[in-house]
Amino acid sequence: MQLNESPNVVVIGGGPAGATVSTLIAQQGYRVELFERDRFPRYHIGESLIPETYWVLKRLNMLEKMKASPFIHKYSVQFVNASGKQSAPFYFHDNKPHECSQTWQVQRSEFDVMMLQNAAEHGVGVHEGVRVLDVLFEGDRATGVQIVDEEGTTREIRADVVVDASGQSSMLINRFKLRVPDPELNKGAIWAYHKGGYRDNGKNEGATIVLSLQDKQGWFWYIPLHDDIVSVGVVADFDYLFKGRESHEATYAAEMEKCPAVKERIAAATRVSPVKATKDYTYRASQAAGEGWVLVGDAFGFLDPLYSSGVLLALKSGQLAADAIVEGLRKGDTSQAQLGNWEAGYVEGMNRMRRLVCEYYDGFSFGQFIRRFPEHRGGITDLLIGDLFKPELDQVFADIDSLKAEQAAS
Ligand SMILES: Cc1cc2nc3c(=O)[nH]c(=O)nc-3n(C[C@H](O)[C@H](O)[C@H](O)COP(=O)(O)OP(=O)(O)OC[C@H]3O[C@@H](n4cnc5c(N)ncnc54)[C@H](O)[C@@H]3O)c2cc1C
Repeated sequence: MQLNESPNVVVIGGGPAGATVSTLIAQQGYRVELFERDRFPRYHIGESLIPETYWVLKRLNMLEKMKASPFIHKYSVQFVNASGKQSAPFYFHDNKPHECSQTWQVQRSEFDVMMLQNAAEHGVGVHEGVRVLDVLFEGDRATGVQIVDEEGTTREIRADVVVDASGQSSMLINRFKLRVPDPELNKGAIWAYHKGGYRDNGKNEGATIVLSLQDKQGWFWYIPLHDDIVSVGVVADFDYLFKGRESHEATYAAEMEKCPAVKERIAAATRVSPVKATKDYTYRASQAAGEGWVLVGDAFGFLDPLYSSGVLLALKSGQLAADAIVEGLRKGDTSQAQLGNWEAGYVEGMNRMRRLVCEYYDGFSFGQFIRRFPEHRGGITDLLIGDLFKPELDQVFADIDSLKAEQAAS
């Protein structure tokens, strides 16, 4: 394995968060080595992007590659309620008439390869098939990583900063017991891929559709991908989905019976994958950085996939962490305060998305809300596109509270 023996930064994991943070640091002339345990392309769930990824993709020089890709264009999100009634699409362009309002539905195996190749093109030392066994510390300061390659050879690599982008493996969360679970969002998911499912025409072809089960116990995602594939999955409380059930396959079929709008859409389609399942608990680390180390993407926190925010959050935290690291390297300061200087604002944004998720599960009617407060249509769309990091959006939630109070009083 050819690598720089004294990089400024080592990155654990080559998913979207790891690829982003490493590319943006290398762009500034610093030496970055990235270790990914798998060989790409590898399968990953998480296919629907949201528009605010545009700005990070732009900084990564990924936009032209995305435009030239076969990925389906996504212009909107649509909701189907428990009685099968379909909402008007939330067209992102109505809110922001800019090309950033068109985003993509990606096959993650392909997207993640593109991101990692792009990192290598920007000078990142990318090493696939290399697992990080441990983060090395001197006192409470991270000083590097111990790695093992596919031949079983182990080595220690020293660096000024260690970035944990290991996804839900969450190396440092586990080591320091930083995981803060979110008991309100203890969910699971079961999904599969189908070829030949129904898709709308024109601008609606690539819409993500979120469809409630008839008994409101959960919801289905319907995500059209290229090659005539649709990703179709159900999310519900973990116990409901997994306890006392016969098999994931039987549960998937049974839940689909409770969502005729999905069943109809794939009636003429063929399932082309096994049924897959995961627990999909929301969690967050109690801190995003320490002395010489930073967490990004799912290695920092994971939020319920209802509004497809995972890749955006991976890209955004990757970008914010990269800026903090570059500034820190310039100043010779890789303290917790410097490396985590983005945490508070980022967590506020994540909390806004979380609140929107919880309102959906509480049965809150966005249609009713927008009829009562039409001035918030833009704010709701901002939240849905991932433009989360601005305090003025808190007025939306203040008015959701006032509508709930009015409803409780009447
Ligand atoms: C059911 C479900 C549906 C979802 N739907 C969506 C969606 O529609 N849209 C969306 O944006 N997001 C979605 N997500 C979320 C999305 O999948 C994640 O948020 C996103 O992949 C996070 O990117 P990441 O780079 O942080 O982690 P990952 O993409 O998981 O990448 C982490 C990488 O680290 C590597 N790694 C781990 N440990 C080590 C180690 N020790 N050494 C070296 N390498 C290591 C792994 O192999 C992996 O490649 C969904 C998630 C779930 C569970």
